[in-house]
Amino acid sequence: MSNYYPLNSQQAMEYVGKLGIFPDHSSLVCREIGDGNLNLVFHIKEKSAATGVIIKQALPYARVVGESWPLTLDRARIESEALIVHHCMCPGMVPKVYHYDPGLALTVMEDLSTHIILRKGLMARTAYPLFAKQIGSFLARTLLLTSDIVLDPLEKKNRMIQFSNPEMCKITEDLVFTDPYYDAETNRFNPLLDEEVKKIWGNDKLKYQIAKLKEKFLTHSQALIHGDLHTGSIMVTGNDLKVIDPEFAFYGPMGFDVGALFANLLLSYASQVGHSLSVEERKRKDYQNYLLNTIEQVWLAFEQEFRALWKEQAKEPTAAAKGYVDDYIMRILQDASGFAGCKMLRRVIGLAHVEDLESIEDLESRAKGEKLALGIGQQLVIKGDRIQNIKDITSLAKKVS
Ligand code: ADP
Ligand code: MG
Ligand code: MG
Ligand code: MG
Repeated sequence: MSNYYPLNSQQAMEYVGKLGIFPDHSSLVCREIGDGNLNLVFHIKEKSAATGVIIKQALPYARVVGESWPLTLDRARIESEALIVHHCMCPGMVPKVYHYDPGLALTVMEDLSTHIILRKGLMARTAYPLFAKQIGSFLARTLLLTSDIVLDPLEKKNRMIQFSNPEMCKITEDLVFTDPYYDAETNRFNPLLDEEVKKIWGNDKLKYQIAKLKEKFLTHSQALIHGDLHTGSIMVTGNDLKVIDPEFAFYGPMGFDVGALFANLLLSYASQVGHSLSVEERKRKDYQNYLLNTIEQVWLAFEQEFRALWKEQAKEPTAAAKGYVDDYIMRILQDASGFAGCKMLRRVIGLAHVEDLESIEDLESRAKGEKLALGIGQQLVIKGDRIQNIKDITSLAKKVS
C-alpha cells in the first residue's frame, strides 16, 4: 500500500512501456475511459493500432461519492484473481490478465474495445442470438465448479479465505438490502415516485422477505459468485461474450448472480414503456418479448449445463441422493427471483441507477418505466419462494405490465 498513487494517463503509458508489452520506442496514446462508479480505466495503444491494453486501477475511495467514502484497494486483487479463476473454468469468456500490481492496485488486461457493453446494446434494442447460451454456460460453470459439490472441502474453504471480500460485501449489504427500504440518506429517486416508495417502506410483507434475502446473502457461502453481474459487466460482439469487473466476487449464494442478470434484463424490459413517445409501440413490444424470451433461454441453458456438469464432475458424496440436484436447482431459481427483485428495487430507489431508465430525460415518461420496475421487483421478492419454473418469472413480469 505504501507505494500506491493513482496514475494519470502519462504515468499509465510509462507503466505499460516498462512491462515490454509494446515494442521499444512505440508511440503510445492513452485515454481514461472509466464509466464505472469506483475505478480508473486506461486504454493504451500504439497510435495507429486499433486495440492495445487496458489498465484498471482501484482508487482508495468510491469514485461516485468522492474521497469521503474510503474503499479497500484489495478489490483489485479480488478482481484479478477472480478473472484468473473464471478464465480457468470458462476460457475466453473473461479478459486475459497480463499483469497484476498489488502496490498500485492495478490489473493490466486484454483490451476489449472490439466489444460493447451489453447494456448499451440492449438500449439500442439489439438482439444477441448466442447470448443466452453463452451466459448460461458461464453461470453454470463458474458457480457449480467453485461449489462444495465439485471442490474438495479443504480447497473450497481455502478459496473462501482467498475471496474474503468484506468491504465490498458491505456495500451490497447496505445499498441492495438495507437502504432502499427506509428513508436513508443514500437513496435518490424520481420525485414522481414518492407515493410508491413510501408504500414500499411501509410494506411489512416485502421487508420480511428482504430480511431473509439479506440473511441468505450474508450466510450462504455456496459458490464463488461474480457479485456484480449486471449488463454493464458484460461485453459483447455479435458472436462473442466476455464478463468483466468481478471486484465484488466472494463466496455467496448462486442465485445472486443469476438474479442480477435477470434484474437487469427486466430493467431494460421496464424501460421500454418509458420510451413510448419516441419509439413506435411495435418495436418496444417486440423487444420486450425478446428480453423475456432471453431470460427463459438463459435459465434453460444454465440448467442444462449445470445438470451435465453435476453428473460429470460432482465429487460430494451426497450429490447423487435422489431428488437432490432437482431441489438444488429449484432453490437457485427461487433465490434468483428474490435477488432479482431486490436488485430492481434498488436501481430505482437507491444510490446507483441504470442508464436504461436514467437516459429517459422526461421525468413523467421515466416514472412509467420505474413504476413498472418497482411493480415487477416487488412481485419477484414476495413470490420468490413460490416460483416453480422460469415461466413463473416471465409470466409475472407480463402480468404486472
Ligand atoms: P468499474 O468497476 O469502475 O465499474 P469496469 O471494469 O466496469 O469498472 O470498467 C468501466 C468501463 O471501462 C466499462 O464499462 C468499459 O466501458 C471499460 N472497460 C473495462 N474493462 C475493459 C476492457 N478489458 N476492455 C475494454 N474496455 C473496458
Ligand atoms: Mg463496472
Ligand atoms: Mg461500467
Ligand atoms: Mg466494478
